[in-house]
Amino acid sequence: MNYFSEEEQSCNCCGENKFNPDTLKRFNELRHILGFPLQMTSMYRCPAYNKKIGATQTHATGQAGDILISHEKAYKLLAVAGIYGFKGIGISQKGNKRFIHLDDLEEVEGRPRPHIWSY
Ligand SMILES: [Zn+2]
Repeated sequence: MNYFSEEEQSCNCCGENKFNPDTLKRFNELRHILGFPLQMTSMYRCPAYNKKIGATQTHATGQAGDILISHEKAYKLLAVAGIYGFKGIGISQKGNKRFIHLDDLEEVEGRPRPHIWSY
């Protein structure tokens, strides 16, 4: 079962899709267990776009996704994200554009995992 369209997975600037199939599987498992749609705002980002917006390289690996989510649904998501193998969790829960970043990247120097941060 795949809940995420090609378009959702692709870079918002150029439409390139190098989203990692294993990470996609995790997102699908997470989506399935939650039982409600996940509004993805950014999954794969090409390195050029990623640089342009000044983000860290996590999305350029194809192993990260940002989900527009808040309140009760954000709580439910956080309750299970770790169980499904997401080791990087970024939380933005202030104002109107509340989101949660999830990735399943391995630890490298300067990027600890498991790790949780806020924006
Ligand atoms: Zn791009």
